[in-house]
Amino acid sequence: MLQLSNISKSYTTADFTQKALDDVSIAFRDNEFVAILGPSGSGKTTMLNIVGGLDHYDSGDLIIDDVSTRQYQDRDWDTYRNNRIGFVFQSYNLIPHQSVLANVELALTLSGVSPNERRERAKAALVEVGLGDHIHKRPNQLSGGQMQRVAIARALINDPEILLADEPTGALDSTTSLQIMSLLTEIADDRLVVMVTHNPELAEQYANRVVNLRDGRVVSDTNPFDPAADDLNHNDKQVRRTSMSFLTAMALSFNNLMTKKGRTLMTAFAGSIGIMGIAAILALATGVNDYVKSIEEDTLSVYPLTIQSQGVDMTAMLAMSSNVSGDVDAEDGEVHEIRAMNRMFSSIASNDLAALKAYLDDDGGNVDDYVNSIQYSYNVTPQIFNADTTNGVRQVNPDSTFSALGFGSAQTSNNLMAAGMSTNVFEQLVDDTSLIEPQYDVVAGRWPTDYNEVVVVLTQSGGMSDFMAYAMGLRDPAELDAMVQQMVNEEEIILPADTLDLSYEDIMKVSFKLVNAADYFAYDQTYNVWTDKSGDADHLRNLVESGDVLRVSGIVQPNGATRATALSPGIYYTPALTTHLIDQALTTEIVQKQLADPGLNVFSGRTFADEAENPQESD
Ligand code: ADP
Ligand code: MG
Repeated sequence: MLQLSNISKSYTTADFTQKALDDVSIAFRDNEFVAILGPSGSGKTTMLNIVGGLDHYDSGDLIIDDVSTRQYQDRDWDTYRNNRIGFVFQSYNLIPHQSVLANVELALTLSGVSPNERRERAKAALVEVGLGDHIHKRPNQLSGGQMQRVAIARALINDPEILLADEPTGALDSTTSLQIMSLLTEIADDRLVVMVTHNPELAEQYANRVVNLRDGRVVSDTNPFDPAADDLNHNDKQVRRTSMSFLTAMALSFNNLMTKKGRTLMTAFAGSIGIMGIAAILALATGVNDYVKSIEEDTLSVYPLTIQSQGVDMTAMLAMSSNVSGDVDAEDGEVHEIRAMNRMFSSIASNDLAALKAYLDDDGGNVDDYVNSIQYSYNVTPQIFNADTTNGVRQVNPDSTFSALGFGSAQTSNNLMAAGMSTNVFEQLVDDTSLIEPQYDVVAGRWPTDYNEVVVVLTQSGGMSDFMAYAMGLRDPAELDAMVQQMVNEEEIILPADTLDLSYEDIMKVSFKLVNAADYFAYDQTYNVWTDKSGDADHLRNLVESGDVLRVSGIVQPNGATRATALSPGIYYTPALTTHLIDQALTTEIVQKQLADPGLNVFSGRTFADEAENPQESD
């Protein structure tokens, strides 16, 4: 028996506090089908998450089998969630590149059940939901209704006593919704099913009990339950020892992280969402640290959890590849538009990273217990040049080799697409290299420590791309420019015939020059403005020649101890360089001037306000 007693829950964001549940008291029978109705934002999801132990209440009590959960530790919540609860979500949360069978089986992967039993149980669960013939398909080969069945099979594989479903039919057409509802009704035969829905007809038709929420309060309940008056209220139940539902918690963390639009948004490349990345998210969101311990740190370091200043709802993107979200069949002879981009862009939102950093720095809810390392990236691109200027100045970071082709290098690290197309060979190393050092042999020198040191990362086989050789000046960059030019002109491309044979010494001898980006600008006495002189060859040559030297401190090569390595081949500088550049920028006159007079655009000599009002005057 499950009872919420005077539960309140608020969410505080930067500027205000939202009461999601306001003194809610309600009890559920061990065996009933409850539908929760209410307008968007009325607290339905919050209630479900609190009942499922996925979110914690601020005050009041959740009483499980007459036992208060006030003293529950994370471990107790884990046990409760893993042994007794199954979750189903509107967005299915299936892993797209895994088969249906694998998706269900995964729920048992870390539970200690043998592979054979896992398979048998997953098959049985899929047969139970009517998908026996589809077990080897991938989610995108299924209809929405079938995908939801897979999600239900996954939730049922542990035989939970309580099934929680958050708008399970929200993305389905009405016929399919009815099928899912009758499946849930069957499931409710011998357990408690609590389902959130927007659809009052479905609720009335299928559920034994309809509860209405509004502004975080229960405003009506068609079949209330008073545990005190219920003499069946004996405490002879045992916690059923079933295996833990890994994917359940995982799915929820996805839901929490990805669909709370405008709050915690997370982006990652769809392709890199491997199981390990998901596990990392799981750990962060639900505190299931035991799982993480069982997962190799090496692999986790490959799939870091990234929080960016702008986030995209990945579930919207994933949904695009399949045929979901209320997509109705077109009439013959008609084509309808599926507004996938619309959906994706409407979900882009900004994160307040400054506040997040302050929070994490100030203990961050013990975040250190759950993560190996937290790293901050700043939008600082070191301006790196070949040290050798005899044949002119050559900038190697950001790389400009292909700018002639129209896709320049990725200047903005904050851009999902650009990051995938970057031709830069320079990247920033992680703050804490002790995590990744075991994956590499240092074949020459040592790991970099100072701001003016870089490390060269070779391929697994000890190689280095010719592209890197050009960047390092080991090959004549003019050769590369000629090839790019030939390509632009659609001429035959003349490829260099030789293959370089390099020694570690050749590589260790390479050095680069660092230019402070602020130094590109020179003060113009006549007009009282700062002008960009990076196009002035002499100015640039002076800057490069007087710039700080960046040296190669070492060469490292993956040692084959792990299949996944954290760094792709390239040249890595230390976070100290970024800090150094930030500190240095602060001391420059142009930055000082701008900081001293924030309303004035130092580049134009006009105020920002004036520029906004009279845009025509600025060239
Ligand atoms: P429903 O599921 O009924 O649409 P929710 O339970 O998701 O409602 O949300 C209830 C209220 O709490 C809403 O006003 C919502 O904006 C707010 N809320 C929910 N989750 C969060 C969160 N993680 N951070 C801040 N506010 C939240
Ligand atoms: Mg909701």
